[in-house]
Amino acid sequence: MSEDSYQQLLVLDERIELRVKAIRNENDWWLCKRGCDHCCRHLASPPELSRLEWMRIDEAVAALNISARSEIKKKINLLLMQIASNNMPKYIVCPYLDEDSGSCLIYDARPIICRIYGYFVARDGDFYCKFIETEVLSRFG
Ligand code: SF4
Repeated sequence: MSEDSYQQLLVLDERIELRVKAIRNENDWWLCKRGCDHCCRHLASPPELSRLEWMRIDEAVAALNISARSEIKKKINLLLMQIASNNMPKYIVCPYLDEDSGSCLIYDARPIICRIYGYFVARDGDFYCKFIETEVLSRFG
């Protein structure tokens, strides 16, 4: 990836992180944080990411140990087969999730959508965290 584009991605990460921190500082009950894996286990569709995000993920995966890499590859292959046979499950478990620990194996390289998903209350297409919506509505109506 070009140095300039990568820097732009880092700037975006940083801006998101600042906004996320501000939300969390004002609302210590906010549910979305490292360790909450509900959305990682309930993807509505395979993620559509920018080329730069995919490249960053590829680099992060390449740095994992061989067993983690092969597990991810197995899950992606299964997903590709399900897509090809038009036999998708209702929800997709993200192939980058360690399902036992509930942690993201590529956390520092996770896509922008993963960084922001739990920080908005409504979004086109109904793609947002319903737990956050419930909390926000109950607190701020
Ligand atoms: S990339 Fe990581 S944070 Fe994003 S859905 Fe997958 S496991 Fe969750």
